[in-house]
Amino acid sequence: MIDLRLKVDPPPIEEPLVVRLLDRRAGERTAHDAILLDIDGEQREYEYHGFSLTVHARPPENLDGDVLLVLPGQASAHRLIRANSNHNTLLVTEQCDQLCVMCSQPPKKYHFDLFDQFGIAASLAPPNAMIGISGGEPLLHKARLFEMLAAVSTSRPDLRFHILTNAQHFAQNDIELLAELGWDRVLWGVPLYSAKPEVHDQIVGKSGAFANLEQGLLTLMQAGASVELRTVILQQNVDDLPELADFITTRLGFISVWAIMQLERIGYGRMNWPISFKDTSCDFAATARAIDIVTARGLDAWLYNFPLCSVPENYRRYAPSTISDWKRKYLDFCGSCTLRETCGGFFQWYDHKEGFSGLGPI
Ligand code: SF4
Repeated sequence: MIDLRLKVDPPPIEEPLVVRLLDRRAGERTAHDAILLDIDGEQREYEYHGFSLTVHARPPENLDGDVLLVLPGQASAHRLIRANSNHNTLLVTEQCDQLCVMCSQPPKKYHFDLFDQFGIAASLAPPNAMIGISGGEPLLHKARLFEMLAAVSTSRPDLRFHILTNAQHFAQNDIELLAELGWDRVLWGVPLYSAKPEVHDQIVGKSGAFANLEQGLLTLMQAGASVELRTVILQQNVDDLPELADFITTRLGFISVWAIMQLERIGYGRMNWPISFKDTSCDFAATARAIDIVTARGLDAWLYNFPLCSVPENYRRYAPSTISDWKRKYLDFCGSCTLRETCGGFFQWYDHKEGFSGLGPI
């Protein structure tokens, strides 16, 4: 697994430090750049404003252009941006106002405001990067989030953002700013689990969530924002999928795409796996019907986090490789599979003993 933390020799800092690691002195530099001086085994020494910064990484790990967040007194740095990856996500808060049965990042009580540091990190990303923003619920800190997005959008108009939100916290007076951020710069990933309010509310653990969500989606629509609706398939909602497909196409036709997702076995997803995981490799009927409904009505649908051999052949074109590189794995039998290059495989924490029953090389 790719490491999102790197060991460092704690520098003498009192404030969080955002630093970009560069292998060369040449080219454009910013005040946040540290330049590589020496490599000694797993130890790399950088020069940063006349001081030495030591980062530990195994050769041949490429750190050129990576952006680290170093916290005072801590011996490991957060690797916020990996320059060679398309899977960079800033986890801006661990607080949340929902308690979803499949949550991969169970909420925490406390919040540390690092929006200024996240903004700097984003501004140091490679050209034209797409940066994910997630939580917790990022919009619990809406003012700070919008402030950061507005600042980065001004300094780096080439960047795009994919922001996961439960859409509980949009208000009518957000429309102007949402419109200014631009439909082509921000894609809002919004979970919707059922067209039945009571089923959605039960899955997210919050009474009234569906009603709030409808208002949030209305605000996004009025702002002309781009929206990716996201539905994790669960035992709790699988039978509702065709009805949800109908609801989306008749009521939410403005969305850009509908992502139907497989469950991630981590956090509450792991705890609730026995009562939530739906083995779509042996029963794909409701999923197929839902895809047929939305695509027949001109809306794009995608299958996220599905191993290709779990999907019937005529639906595999909807299943791109979506599991981030740092949390992806393949199983032994994948070695002889002709689809290995295009298949997204499995989450690192997937357990085949409790997983899909109908898989195998193709
Ligand atoms: S055998 Fe492995 S590589 Fe092939 S489709 Fe299945 S999960 Fe993907």
